[in-house]
Amino acid sequence: MSTDSGIPDYRGPQGLWRREPDAEKLVTYEYYMADPEIRRRSWLMRAEVWAAAPRPNAAHRAVAELERGGTPVRVVTQNVDGLHQLAGMPARKVFELHGSARSVVCTGCNARTGLEEALARVSAGEPDPACLACGGILKTATVMFGERLDPEVLAQSVAVAKGCQVFIAVGTTLQVQPAASLAGMAAEAGARLIIVNAEETPYDALADEIVREPIGTALPALLSRIAAG
Ligand SMILES: [Zn+2]
Repeated sequence: MSTDSGIPDYRGPQGLWRREPDAEKLVTYEYYMADPEIRRRSWLMRAEVWAAAPRPNAAHRAVAELERGGTPVRVVTQNVDGLHQLAGMPARKVFELHGSARSVVCTGCNARTGLEEALARVSAGEPDPACLACGGILKTATVMFGERLDPEVLAQSVAVAKGCQVFIAVGTTLQVQPAASLAGMAAEAGARLIIVNAEETPYDALADEIVREPIGTALPALLSRIAAG
């Protein structure tokens, strides 16, 4: 969804994790908490992504437009970039299963601050900025490997999957659980399942429609067809 906005793809065939397996440590809770060098590199990675000031692309805009046009839309996403909200989706209708990289949380006292503030401290010479309130280790408010999903966000996402009429799985190989299972839940509950992904997924057999074309063009076309009823 966000690769057209310059956000790196992590798990796809050209994904960061496959090209640079060591990069996975930067978002693995155990390594992050144990090693200041991992934290330094992790902040640099965030800084690099945000320095490019990623903007919503045509696919994000098409989703927000569908919602504005009166079709009730809920977004369940594994992305942490906040681009759906920037495109105009109301935040309460976006369920971020893997949290948000736009906020920073203290692992000691749970205080929340903005990403900009932390990155400003990094660029001012603090490679691993500590919480200003308690001195604890700061991290982005993302769900790292080794952390649990927020049970409330997951429950809301399950409710969306079970209650929707059309479930569109976009740009996911549907291999990471429990997010992937939402597609199956939706289909089982009677939703029309549409999969928009370049590669095969384990849920293709359940799908009513499969779209292999690039998301940036395919999703806007698909959504305007849905809006037209
Ligand atoms: Zn703190």
